[in-house]
Amino acid sequence: MHYIVFDLEWNQAEGRIGHEGGLPFEIVEIGAVKLNRKMQIVDRFDEIIKPKIYPRMHFMTTKIVGLDKEDLENGKDFPSVMESFLKWCGSKYRFCIWGTLDITELQRNMCYYGMDELTHKPLPFLDVQKLYSLAYEDGKIRRALEYAVDELGIVKDEPFHRANNDAYYTARVLENIHRDHTDVEDYLSFDLFMLPQDKRDEVKVKFKTYSKYISREFEDKTKAMQDKMVSSMKCCVCGRTTKKVIKWFSVNGRQYFCVAACKKHGFVKAKVRMKKADDGNVFVVKTMKIIDEASVDAIREKQDKLRAQRAERRHRDT
Ligand SMILES: [Zn+2]
Repeated sequence: MHYIVFDLEWNQAEGRIGHEGGLPFEIVEIGAVKLNRKMQIVDRFDEIIKPKIYPRMHFMTTKIVGLDKEDLENGKDFPSVMESFLKWCGSKYRFCIWGTLDITELQRNMCYYGMDELTHKPLPFLDVQKLYSLAYEDGKIRRALEYAVDELGIVKDEPFHRANNDAYYTARVLENIHRDHTDVEDYLSFDLFMLPQDKRDEVKVKFKTYSKYISREFEDKTKAMQDKMVSSMKCCVCGRTTKKVIKWFSVNGRQYFCVAACKKHGFVKAKVRMKKADDGNVFVVKTMKIIDEASVDAIREKQDKLRAQRAERRHRDT
């Protein structure tokens, strides 16, 4: 398997209007670096795409990307660049990007041109921006690529904000993460451009201390929370039945929490995020992880605070 680290430059409509047929971002460059399992660079890819939807480059894009009219005029059309890109990727690969946006936009552009989908379910990838935060910071903060490059002391011999170079720098950051923390595959992200259509395509992954589940669609939140897999509190490490410590409760109706205790692994926290699909249905992203007692107390406090707020509102209304 190869790691394909890619970066896109895109062009967008000027102002708010002009989101032609659901394509707010038109890709004008694909830059990529191919890495082997040891995270060594084995090949590079770079193609400029001639814009069709927004022929006038947005002034910000011109400023940031440094592509001029002539570069773009000489570009190839998106479908043929995409085809050669996928051929170059090979048969077994894992996409890696800085952040999460590019992987969605790549699929949206393919969809716009009627190309075959990469997948019919959530696409696993490595978000190097997230991995950087997990490896060197608190796991939550998101840094700019150049910040990470500076912090890791990577030599800056090529300008930023060109797809090819940004892919190269992202690859070098990934190489560092791999060297310092070898478990990059333990933190897979999933792109949600394609949602699971049925049970078979649902995402269920287990890592050392946490698990992730992405459900099929449900009619509404209540139906979702009634689903066995959504509400299940089986331990995310051993799969054993647990004892509930804090029952399911909701925050804003968008997030739901529950805490249970596993005899062997201690406290297990489940968090359900309700997400809206394009057709108005809902689907669920559920994560479970082992937590300590202080975190249980914090969750209990959050629940108490919510209850107090609700009681106060009721009091005011009557
Ligand atoms: Zn357990």
